[in-house]
Amino acid sequence: MFFTSTDGGRVRVIGAGPAGSAAAIAARLDGAAVELVEKSRLPRHKVCGEFLSPEIAPVLDRLGMLHEFLQARPARIRRMLLHFGRRAKSSGLPEPAFGLSRYRFDDLLYRGALAAGAEPRREPGPEPAAATVLAGGRCAADAATARASRLFGFKAHFTGPRSDAVELYFFSGAYVGIAPVEEGFTNVCGLAPQRLLERFDFDVDGLLASHPPLAERTRPLSRAMPWLYVGPLVFRNRFGARPPEATYPAGDALSFVDPFTGSGLLSAVMTGALAGCSAARGSSSSAFIFECNLLLGRAFSISTAFRDVAGTKLAEYVAPLLPGRFLYRLTRPPAAR
Ligand SMILES: Cc1cc2nc3c(=O)[nH]c(=O)nc-3n(C[C@H](O)[C@H](O)[C@H](O)COP(=O)(O)OP(=O)(O)OC[C@H]3O[C@@H](n4cnc5c(N)ncnc54)[C@H](O)[C@@H]3O)c2cc1C
Repeated sequence: MFFTSTDGGRVRVIGAGPAGSAAAIAARLDGAAVELVEKSRLPRHKVCGEFLSPEIAPVLDRLGMLHEFLQARPARIRRMLLHFGRRAKSSGLPEPAFGLSRYRFDDLLYRGALAAGAEPRREPGPEPAAATVLAGGRCAADAATARASRLFGFKAHFTGPRSDAVELYFFSGAYVGIAPVEEGFTNVCGLAPQRLLERFDFDVDGLLASHPPLAERTRPLSRAMPWLYVGPLVFRNRFGARPPEATYPAGDALSFVDPFTGSGLLSAVMTGALAGCSAARGSSSSAFIFECNLLLGRAFSISTAFRDVAGTKLAEYVAPLLPGRFLYRLTRPPAAR
């Protein structure tokens, strides 16, 4: 689907997260010289639920990265448990999903980009670029948005008994996801409004203990690293905006919706690969955005609408009526289903 070899110009990729590294690999496969600019040192832990939906496999395969991904021995996730207040809903996933830490996942893609011939840089080089992929992640919150929403993410890895389910607990406008990752670890990751976290002095252990179903679930687990925090988070999408010519925003720089569906990494790798191809081929930026919208627009709208209800009291009553498997499918990009 993605690649045919052409003589591309020089492509600059800003950011070597999943979107940027996928863009760099795709642009190299398309014949372009690539400069991959990353300001942080990799590998590093990152706040993320680390849930990868099964549709990531064919996308990684097209980038030549599936073998490395499977060699990292991601956990296999076969079930989904949704907890709304004290009510729970369980369903099998249509296909097993994956759990792999961002420490491993980002590093393996970054190494893949370098092995494909991308030139690593800390800052953009002096040479002009024919095209730029913007893959620097989420936009920072402007003051007004930050005041209005102030949602924070948190995550830590735990040891203890493992499960083969991704579990989501929605309560008090927050949610916490629990899922296995590689090497026997369990990821606990969540999103909560600042006012709720402040009640616990930003002590996530206290927050988990305050919600009985979560307290019970996490009791046999032991935390293996300090809590990591991120925020305030801003949900924003640029599908309606027209980027300057020869500029291709990808991943969270293109669109960041509430991460509870766990489609962020899939979307980042898909839009990154598309951005890399478009940049290497000199396709118009508007055509690129149009294609991203076709791939992701509907799934993102449904995720946003569901999230608006999920944190409310209403959800406890609606939950038993929700078709879990159907909802899971609706929140996936159509091309990946
Ligand atoms: C709480 C939470 C839980 C989540 N859980 C999941 C989940 O379970 N599953 C899922 O699929 N998604 C999840 N997501 C979403 C997922 O983390 C993102 O969609 C994904 O990280 C997007 O990848 P990216 O490459 O676009 O951006 P990033 O991963 O943010 O990478 C951007 C990179 O660009 C670099 N950078 C930034 N600016 C510059 C610059 N100027 N110059 C050079 N380098 C720069 C950064 O250092 C970083 O390495 C979650 C997000 C949050 C906040």
